[in-house]
Amino acid sequence: MKKKIIARAIVVSALLMLNSCAANTDKDNTEVIADDKKTSGSVFAMDTYMTVTAYGDNGKKGIEAAQKEITRLEKLWSVTDENSEIYAIDHSGGAEVPISTETEELLDFAIDMHSRTNGALDITLYPVLRAWGFTTGEYRVPDDDEISSLLECKGVDRIKAGDGKASVPENTEIDLGAIAKGSAGDAAAKALKEQGVTSALLDLGGNIQTVGDSKPDGTKWKVGIRDPFGEGSIGTLTIGECAVITSGGYERFFEMDGLIYKHILDPETGRPAESGLASVTIIGNEGRMCDALSTSLYVMGLDDACGYWRENHDFDMILVNDKGVVYVTEGISESFSPNVDDVTVVER
Ligand code: ADP
Ligand code: MG
Repeated sequence: MKKKIIARAIVVSALLMLNSCAANTDKDNTEVIADDKKTSGSVFAMDTYMTVTAYGDNGKKGIEAAQKEITRLEKLWSVTDENSEIYAIDHSGGAEVPISTETEELLDFAIDMHSRTNGALDITLYPVLRAWGFTTGEYRVPDDDEISSLLECKGVDRIKAGDGKASVPENTEIDLGAIAKGSAGDAAAKALKEQGVTSALLDLGGNIQTVGDSKPDGTKWKVGIRDPFGEGSIGTLTIGECAVITSGGYERFFEMDGLIYKHILDPETGRPAESGLASVTIIGNEGRMCDALSTSLYVMGLDDACGYWRENHDFDMILVNDKGVVYVTEGISESFSPNVDDVTVVER
């Protein structure tokens, strides 16, 4: 059942405000800027610019711990760093390699989400992504034969992970691009809390995760949801402690012979997913789950995404279709102030 509601007009800034005090950049490419009320830090990791803003006295310590955690996980999960655990699995010629608990847990999670999403999330698409040039920026459109033969190498059932070891057969390659940032956000939020931070906002390349239900002054967090067709936002979400994670074709794409090719692939076809959705934002408690769902519900399209939401009660979502129509699930419809003309509320 769907019903239309009329949008409320709002004018709220969507962006994180960074402080303007003196900055300190160290060799890890991290930066901490502070004043007495809030501390902001940034780090370039996982192919994206990330900022962490923490409120209160322990901000600097918390941010440093969060940055360290993000950098540590990037070193485990990078698909291109020759010293990463994922690189070792992908290049061992099928032999088992030792992996950390974090990597084993994330692989188990990805395998589980593959089956829960009916195959829409598939971390073994890397050879296909490479053929399209999404891994290098050297974009091309592979022909049908090339795609079919590369698809023969995929399959999460080929991943063997357990007892601190993992392997994939030769020619199969793992890429955690769809879930690593959300998972790193969970770890960074935990690191902030361990340092005594009770109020913080993490922006991991547009993935938002918060620590604490509000800022110290009691105001809730306001997060702008990006307009997939432009620079502005489609509305603002007012949230407590949670993750707000968006996948959209606009994030990485290329144009060739007048056609647009986007970086989220349909594992069944090996081609950019053409599901009729322009962006999918997932709101939930766990970053890795929201990240996994933002990618896989984008692949599924509106109807299957709504079906998945009706069966799984641990998240909410905001979907924008190719025509710019916005769909919001009922759990967050009250906390979403749209900038657009009309919004459809999706009911259970
Ligand atoms: P972003 O990383 O841009 O925020 P996503 O979380 O949606 O966006 O992840 C997209 C990335 O996931 C792609 O760049 C690619 O590395 C990988 N990927 C693409 N399609 C799939 C898929 N169907 N399942 C799992 N990973 C995918
Ligand atoms: Mg994702």
